[in-house]
Parts: sequence; structure tokens; C-alpha cells
Amino acid sequence: MSEQPGIIITIDGPSGVGKSTISRKVAAELGLTYLDTGAMYRAVALYLQSHACDIEDAPGVEEALEDITIDLRPAATEDHDVGVLLNTADVSGLIRTPDISMLASRVSAIPAVRTKLTGLQQAIGEKGGIVAEGRDTGTVVFPAAQFKFFLDATPDERVRRRSAQMRARGEQVDEEALLAMNKARDKQDSERAVAPLKKADDAVLIDTTGLTIDQVLARIIGAIRK
Ligand code: C5P
Repeated sequence: MSEQPGIIITIDGPSGVGKSTISRKVAAELGLTYLDTGAMYRAVALYLQSHACDIEDAPGVEEALEDITIDLRPAATEDHDVGVLLNTADVSGLIRTPDISMLASRVSAIPAVRTKLTGLQQAIGEKGGIVAEGRDTGTVVFPAAQFKFFLDATPDERVRRRSAQMRARGEQVDEEALLAMNKARDKQDSERAVAPLKKADDAVLIDTTGLTIDQVLARIIGAIRK
């Protein structure tokens, strides 16, 4: 049972900072629903890629958006933070490739994509009871959220964490390439015109460098229960 049924908590930050793991655990601890907004951008990117849709073609993208439905479910396995259904197909693993990370970042700068996904996210959060995670959940999607957090960590630390996660899944890692990719993605996400990656003025900033997952979790839960 949720301790505070109508509550909305937002957790934003750059790539690889541990937002998904932390947000999922905060939601579990408080009995809330975890809303992974990045998974939705990834699903749209996968759809556009698999339908050979040119993302520079605005009318084409808008048309494609009409054919996309996305459902988020609790993850079926420990390998994923969330289960993602794209037009009923389970794409939970397919959306986690480096290719799709980069494409999602480009696709997320398209205003029509943001309008559609922001609307879906707000509908999911309408009754509250959620922990929303992404880049703009505290600034644009849920500006009135009761609790907002912005997680950060040094680029090297973020790459170390993401590499460890990938190795644990049996994937090969090129740390230098990952660092370059994260930098490019964060730059793109921070500099876009619509809903850029940005700390909300009223969000609590947590520098997670040198902190364990449990320590970050304790800070967030502590701030909420205070
Ligand atoms: O968080 P994740 O790495 O899964 O997000 C993938 C991409 O989706 C990000 O790099 C960003 O471009 C985009 N995104 C966004 N707004 C959000 C969540 C994710 O623009 N709220």
C-alpha cells in the first residue's frame, strides 16, 4: 500500500547517473508506480528506425506518431527496469542498445514527439502515486510535483556504473566509446530548444559521486518522509 497515494516524485538527471535503479527502488519502497519516461522516447526511436522513417521529415514523423501505442509494465525479469510494449510487442530489451540511446536523444528534440509523450506521461500521473524519471519530469511534465530530485555524478563515475551494469548483463563494454556517447547525448539533451535536461529550481540536487545506491536511496526516502 502506498503511504501517500496522490504523491508525485520526480527524479531527473543526465545519462548513466543511476536514475532508473534509484527510481525503481524509491517506488518499491513507497508502494508507488515507477514511470520511466526515457523508455517511451526509446520506444518511439525504435519504431521510427524499424519503419525507416526519416526523423528530419516532420510531417512523416507526426503521421508515424499516430500509429504508436506504448504501455509500460513492471519488468518481467531482473535484466530490465521496466517492461515496455510497443504496439503490443515486448521491446524491453531492444530499446536498450547504444544505437537506440543516441537515436532517442535526437528523436526527443522533435516537438511533436515531446507533445505526444508528455501528454501520455501526464495521463499516467493524473491520479498521482508515481515516481517519474527522466530529463524534464520536474520542469515540464510534473512542475507541481511534491518532491523533486536531480541526480548528478562525474562523467567518469557515470561511465563506470553503466559499464558495470552492462558487464553484469554479459555485454561487452568500450568505456571510451561509452564516455564519448554519454557526452554527446547529454550535450544534445541539454541544448535542445524544447524541455532541455535541466534541474528544476525547486529540485533537490544530489551529487551521487562516491555514494552507493543505498546511500542515495536513504537520502531521497529521508527527504520525503521528513
Ligand atoms: O533515460 P534514458 O537514457 O532511457 O533516455 C533516453 C533518451 O530519451 C535521453 O537521452 C533523452 O534524449 C530522452 N528523454 C527525454 N526526456 C525525458 C526522458 C528521456 O528527452 N523525460
